[in-house]
Amino acid sequence: PLTAHLLLGRRLGGLSSGLYLAIAAGLFLWRFGVDSVVEAPGATANIAAVTVWTYLFSYFYEASRESAERQLSQQALTDSLTGLPNRAQLEQSFRRLANAGAYPVSVLMLDLDHFKCINDDYGHATGDAVLREVGRTLSEHTRSQDVACRLGGEEFCVLLAHTDNGAARQLAERLREAIEALRCRHNDCVLYLTASIGVASSTGPGEQLDPMLHIADEKLYQAKSSGRNRVVG
Ligand code: GH3
Ligand code: MG
Ligand code: MG
Repeated sequence: PLTAHLLLGRRLGGLSSGLYLAIAAGLFLWRFGVDSVVEAPGATANIAAVTVWTYLFSYFYEASRESAERQLSQQALTDSLTGLPNRAQLEQSFRRLANAGAYPVSVLMLDLDHFKCINDDYGHATGDAVLREVGRTLSEHTRSQDVACRLGGEEFCVLLAHTDNGAARQLAERLREAIEALRCRHNDCVLYLTASIGVASSTGPGEQLDPMLHIADEKLYQAKSSGRNRVVG
């Protein structure tokens, strides 16, 4: 049972172990007969107890290994600071949407303005708290089918299915306003925050994520150079 669970996983391992044990019991009865079981109840109980214990041990060991594996792969797809999906998960989500033909697809590239000043003036821990707050705001202001993720640093990205460029710009504007309305606190001080957002859209299949992110990044750069706290699409 141990080998079967390790090689085949919980379900298939459990089934093949059950089959193996049934065959072993059949061979035992065929070789020694039912009488031997009745005549030596102690030995039979011993074999049965060891078998059940080995089976249960293998099952629960494999169950906890599978759960640890699930947790690790979830962690590999999640940004540890904000709890948002990370870039790897963004790529998975984009592939899923592309396979489902969820066009038009848009991406918003969002970068906080002058974020370095927050770290410099209030400390890195406050900067981290602000990033978590921005993550929460993005989750709250996007639809359930949208994927808001943190790409790294103070850069976030939102993937929008079935959303053309006009609708994406509207959503980006709502996100920009929501971030501007945030009032993060540090001791007695209120921190004001703004963000610049670049929007890129694809109307049909064949578009890859990286070129779209590149275009959104260029628009973001335009938003920064034309004064920040704005959406360019
Ligand atoms: P701009 O408006 O041009 O985007 O200016 P900026 O200050 O936001 O951009 P810049 O690239 O100069 O600085 C980004 C800062 O983000 C610098 C870095 O210390 C900070 N940062 C990156 N990752 C983290 C993080 O995980 N936590 C905190 N607290 N700060 C971070
Ligand atoms: Mg940046
Ligand atoms: Mg920035």
